[in-house]
Amino acid sequence: HSKSQARVDGSTGVKFSDVAGIDDAVEELQELVRYLKNPELFDKIGIKPPHGVLLEGPPGCGKTLVAKAIAGEAHVPFYQMAGSEFVEVLVGVGSARIRDLFMRAKVNKPAVVFVDEIDALATRRQGIFNESTNYFYNAATQERETTLNQLLIELDGFDTGKGVIFLGATNRMDLLDPALLRPGRFDRKIRIRPPGAKGRLDILKVHARKVKMSPTVDLSTYAQNLPGWTGAKLAQLVQESALVAVRRGHESILQSDMDDAVDRLTVGPKRLGIELG
Ligand code: ATP
Repeated sequence: HSKSQARVDGSTGVKFSDVAGIDDAVEELQELVRYLKNPELFDKIGIKPPHGVLLEGPPGCGKTLVAKAIAGEAHVPFYQMAGSEFVEVLVGVGSARIRDLFMRAKVNKPAVVFVDEIDALATRRQGIFNESTNYFYNAATQERETTLNQLLIELDGFDTGKGVIFLGATNRMDLLDPALLRPGRFDRKIRIRPPGAKGRLDILKVHARKVKMSPTVDLSTYAQNLPGWTGAKLAQLVQESALVAVRRGHESILQSDMDDAVDRLTVGPKRLGIELG
């Protein structure tokens, strides 16, 4: 995708029913959908509009997915960029992109702005800048600070942008600049946890709906036997099973197709042995 253009999607088409295994997070995020559907009502009743929400958790567990679902449920546009897309050596480029991103969201509000890998642009400043030696203080560091400051300005100026929700995602909360975590910038931090067995089953079911799965396939066995598998990996498993089924001329996905797909997606000595042998 282009680096200078935020990806815009008039309607993400993603719904909360596409998200599984993180019910608590979804429950908390319903509030944002209510707000986006009717920002004026919040204003009229005198509820302070939500500013931003920080989604924290390991990769592949649904941070991007749930952000898209908020926009999809509320039928509002979704503006997405990755933190790394703001990191430029040329002074002013990153902050201009931030301004541009928020400006477009405000023009089309209500809207959702989503910045993935927010740690890339909002790394804590201590340790990077060493006042006594000036050692790490170079153009890139300065540019990053300018960019972060612009983001803080946008977040603080949300009264003028009523109807715009900011969602940030990170898997490295510990790296974030404390300025970003100060009250009034993010109202909430929501943990997106890796799924347990029940979550994995629900995720498999969501993705099984999108393909033709034989009713003989017992998804709960896979859910129980694949500890550590994330939503992204489970989605991949269903897709891979479908490919195996097609290759074998099956009209629906069978247990043997799933087993083969698990094998293909499992990186380990056994799999390596086959490849090397
Ligand atoms: P990253 O930090 O890598 O961006 P993420 O947490 O944002 O990870 P997503 O990009 O949302 O993860 O997940 C990738 C894909 O995996 C989704 O589009 C979806 O198909 C599937 N997936 C991940 N988590 C879930 C979930 N909780 N429920 C259903 N599907 C999921």
